[in-house]
Amino acid sequence: MRYCTKCKCLFPDSTDTCPEHNKKLISDPAPASPVRIMTAGGFEFERITAALDSAGIAYSYSREENDAVFRAVAPSAASINNIYVKLSDYCTARELMQEIGAHDERAPYEPDEEEKKKISDAKKEEDEELSPGKARAIRIVSGIAFLLLLAAVVYATDHILALLQTLFGA
Ligand SMILES: [Zn+2]
Repeated sequence: MRYCTKCKCLFPDSTDTCPEHNKKLISDPAPASPVRIMTAGGFEFERITAALDSAGIAYSYSREENDAVFRAVAPSAASINNIYVKLSDYCTARELMQEIGAHDERAPYEPDEEEKKKISDAKKEEDEELSPGKARAIRIVSGIAFLLLLAAVVYATDHILALLQTLFGA
């Protein structure tokens, strides 16, 4: 899979330059790279972003470059935005777009099975960075550290008291 850093679109490995920007494509973008999932305006934009919100998929958007041309023709129309999701969320977001019947005039990239696996593996790695198991382990370790500190304080206090008793013969 190839990636255009300008339009943030995905392309098959057989493509070398972005057909839209004539820009050289990079291979294997990072899992956190923003990828264009859809271009929409007005109600369709609201509908898509609401669906992403309720699915818990983070997104960002920016005004489509051709929007100025479009608005010159239809000044009252709502502006058009490009919507981006993280590459690691791309497959999930694509499925969601199909579920809600959101269509994009520019054919979105469909990863093949091998690429889908690669993307979901990258997603797993990302999720494991602070999985519930790991977070619990951290809590247990800090709990033990606190108990040890408490024991040390009690132990030291005992010794100081014993020392004071010896010094003052109490
Ligand atoms: Zn491009």
